[in-house]
Amino acid sequence: MFLPLARAQEKNMRTERNYWRGWLLVGLLVALAFHNTVRAAGGDRAPLTAVLGAMPDEVHLLESRLQDKQVQEHLGMKFFSGTLVGRRVVVAYTGIGKVNAAMTTTLVLDHYQPAEVLFTGVAGGINTNLGPGDIVLGERVAQHDFGEVSDQNFQTQPTDNPRTGQHNPLFFAGADRLLAVAGAAAQSVSWEQLVTTQGARTPQVRRGVIVTGDVFVASPVKCAELRTKFKADAVEMEGGAVAQVCAQQGVPCLVIRSLSDRADATANLDFKKFFQAAAANSAHLTEAILRQLAAGTTP
Ligand code: SAH
Repeated sequence: MFLPLARAQEKNMRTERNYWRGWLLVGLLVALAFHNTVRAAGGDRAPLTAVLGAMPDEVHLLESRLQDKQVQEHLGMKFFSGTLVGRRVVVAYTGIGKVNAAMTTTLVLDHYQPAEVLFTGVAGGINTNLGPGDIVLGERVAQHDFGEVSDQNFQTQPTDNPRTGQHNPLFFAGADRLLAVAGAAAQSVSWEQLVTTQGARTPQVRRGVIVTGDVFVASPVKCAELRTKFKADAVEMEGGAVAQVCAQQGVPCLVIRSLSDRADATANLDFKKFFQAAAANSAHLTEAILRQLAAGTTP
């Protein structure tokens, strides 16, 4: 008599245990479904910054310091994502020139939906008050080689936005918030010194006009033209394309350029001499900007 009673009690307890286990499983499944829905909507993700540069050596410093680094390939281009100084980032190099820059910017916007795009790298100096290593923050960025050529002259024209059918502005504006963050972040950077014939130089950082074209400029005549037509401070080969893609998609963008040369007759030699230190300083400033974005301290 005693034994069947004990067995019945044991059976009851087992049924009760299974009952609670069942509810636990349902609870877990509901939590998982909720988590995946929020994730798919991007809701539980911190904002992400895209960091682009033209050449591997312009982004390597940043890419090599990524935490939880993952590599993804889109159309054969590599994108490195992870965390840098507390900010979620995706880092890539675009390749030289406007077509490559536009292609990689489009891919990064489409696949990662960044909150902003930072472009870091070197440029030729056009403003005679600036020297190797100085940094220009692209307050205004234009394409100097888009326009109409006649026997008499070359007339610059604005590009078109195929989404709206309207003209783009000739100058794309750097995002105000990013310009302010960059200016403040510059105070905290430990710069690499550039040793020139005038001695070691600590970079000055200033806002300015950056012009872009599919040519390496090594010509004082072209420099004078870019100064007259655009009041350009620096010339390079990607920023205008990145700024155009970002403007057409409504994504804030800042082009950061450290001067490797003066775009003159010795530009090729200077480029070789100053490239590494100039590229490193632009990367250091980019990292300082990311630190401020991570901290949420907008000046
Ligand atoms: N000899 C190098 C040149 C690269 S092109 C090579 O073949 O690897 C120069 C790169 O640096 C471009 O990405 C451009 O954005 C920038 N740049 C630096 N100085 C420049 C200048 N004087 N004119 C145009 N772009 C310049």
